[in-house]
Amino acid sequence: PVELLCYCRPGFEPDLAAEITEKAEAIGWTGQALFDANAGFVRFRVEGDEPVNALHRELPLMSLVFARQSLVALPPLSLAREDRLTPIVEQVVASGWSFESLWQETPDTNDAKALAGLIKALNRPLESVLKKRKALRRKAGGRRLHLLWRAGDRVQLGMSFPGNRSEMPGGIRRLRFPHSAPSRSTLKLEEAWHEFVPREQWDTRLAEGMQAADLGAAPGGWTWQLAKRGMHVYAIDNGPMDKALMATGLVEHLREDGFVWEPPYRLDWLVCDIVDKPARVEAMMERWLVRRWCREAVFNLKLPMRRRWPEVASCLERLAQALAEAGIAAEIGCRHLYHDREEVTVHVRITD
Ligand code: SAM
Repeated sequence: PVELLCYCRPGFEPDLAAEITEKAEAIGWTGQALFDANAGFVRFRVEGDEPVNALHRELPLMSLVFARQSLVALPPLSLAREDRLTPIVEQVVASGWSFESLWQETPDTNDAKALAGLIKALNRPLESVLKKRKALRRKAGGRRLHLLWRAGDRVQLGMSFPGNRSEMPGGIRRLRFPHSAPSRSTLKLEEAWHEFVPREQWDTRLAEGMQAADLGAAPGGWTWQLAKRGMHVYAIDNGPMDKALMATGLVEHLREDGFVWEPPYRLDWLVCDIVDKPARVEAMMERWLVRRWCREAVFNLKLPMRRRWPEVASCLERLAQALAEAGIAAEIGCRHLYHDREEVTVHVRITD
């Protein structure tokens, strides 16, 4: 294995490339990020002969903002249309690795989606030959073989390991839109919870009777998620809130400025989806967390600028530093979620 292969939202390749290059360098790896604009993935080829598996472990998927999936990859293959199968099988066998499952994927682009038929037709024959060659078998450490098809004659093989990968094809968490929710944004908060709160902890960390605030709440997609968990919500926004949501009796709507509003007592959750400068949102969150006005928070950083990674990096660094200086132990996570567009989602949990 010679390189990392990470999937991302098309258009965010430069951000992911900058992020990986900088983070790898910070832990002593030099390499080169390779990508095409809007391709939906980035390759990171390292220098030297240390196996890239070590870098893959040292840069776990959850520590990366812009990566939807992270694989250890083999060199891309160019295939002849008469026989696509053989070169793939030979490369797998030559790698010496074996796998428990096979996933065929495409980048998240319209062009690539047209390959669905081809991929489907190949699946059975591929699996059966790989099984015969013992490259696909039970008890292979949970390893998964990924085939990323970028064209009908162009594929790259990668592998993923349990505990350091997205368990969803393409690294995409598709969620069903709940039709009583007031806005599509509701899916951003739901996805954030899936991403940052382990399922077995939902009943204690997203519990009935908890107190929450939603800054920039209107029309109420995020508040709807909080209320659905049985929480009491201060919904802060000048705009109108959804009537059915207000009828639950769980929501208090305050027409105030989210940047200056202070809660009457300590809350369990703060969420914020206000469209404003990332630095301004970060400073506000810092104030909340340093004063322990909430125990857990989810907020978005909107990124309309061209160079998104440096902006995200500096916000996260300032937040981490402020919490450290205030002596507050906290977990900070930041991910570009599937339902995020020009924004990333930050999660903070005070742990002391
Ligand atoms: N999360 C919401 C949902 O799921 O329905 C959508 C929020 S929308 C992207 C941003 C909201 O922030 C707008 O309703 C806007 O009125 C509000 N907003 C902007 N600046 C604000 C401020 N300073 N204080 C409170 N709300 C603000």
